[in-house]
Amino acid sequence: MFRSRKYRVDNEQVVLAVTILLVLFVIVLTSTATFCLSGVFIVGMFLISALMIRSHHRALMQTAKRVTPIQTPKMAMLVEECASKLQPGDVETYLVKKDQMNAYTFGLSDPKALVVYTPMISVMGPGELKFIIGHEMGHVALGHTWLNTIVGGLAGIPAPFGAAVVLYATFRWWNRMCEFSADRAGLLACGDLNLAVSALVKLAAPNIRSQQEFERALAVLDAQDDQVNNRLAEVFQTHPMLIRRIEKLREYARTEEYRWLQAGVNRNVGQQAGSPMPTGQTREDPRPVATPPEPQEQPKSPEERWPWLKPKDNE
Ligand SMILES: [Zn+2]
Repeated sequence: MFRSRKYRVDNEQVVLAVTILLVLFVIVLTSTATFCLSGVFIVGMFLISALMIRSHHRALMQTAKRVTPIQTPKMAMLVEECASKLQPGDVETYLVKKDQMNAYTFGLSDPKALVVYTPMISVMGPGELKFIIGHEMGHVALGHTWLNTIVGGLAGIPAPFGAAVVLYATFRWWNRMCEFSADRAGLLACGDLNLAVSALVKLAAPNIRSQQEFERALAVLDAQDDQVNNRLAEVFQTHPMLIRRIEKLREYARTEEYRWLQAGVNRNVGQQAGSPMPTGQTREDPRPVATPPEPQEQPKSPEERWPWLKPKDNE
């Protein structure tokens, strides 16, 4: 059988080789460009964030009230106690008049800023405020404040649609982990699971005044967890559902590690390791806040057991 390929024109294979080399060259070139552009993008994002933080800080200086022992003595004492317990580093605290329940931290370099909106002070008692301040100081202490700026910039890098969604969801996943960690710091700062849970519930229901109202609010939060759409929506949210945060805190309060850490931070403010918690609950009894008082515990006053009945610490 006669078989020949001699009819191939002379340059066919040369051009094939050139084509393949060119394709490889373009791949290397474009990936290098993408890599370099990503670097430029990240640096750009970082610079923009730094500028935004600086201008936000300046605006805050003009409109907010700095927490100092002279201007706001009660709040300053709470902040001081939380800082002594958690040792977050250099933090300046500001009060901002806004019709919103919120607190946050920001800053790339020291001092970091901790901002508390004024409704928090009128709604929460001192112990609950310690949870809120401690939570924010936890963010500072664990580096979330600056990491959030940098990791957020990285996760915001332009990417094909599917990849962008995955990046965004993963970043938010990390955000939610940070909230659980910061809640633990808040618990350590206030030292009382009841008050920590009460503070969390008040974020959703600021006006609760009685045990019934509290239990109703808790039941509403609990029901949110059962809805599939809420669970799906959580994937893209910075904060976990409140009921999940409450459950995680209750679990954590039962651990040996928590007891050890609580004793440690208490020593920072001269509290005895085994001394009872300020509002009556002992560390060995991290009972859920919604459990009604048992008969043998009657001597505790309602104010001790249910912190929202206490007079408010208006400042
Ligand atoms: Zn937080």
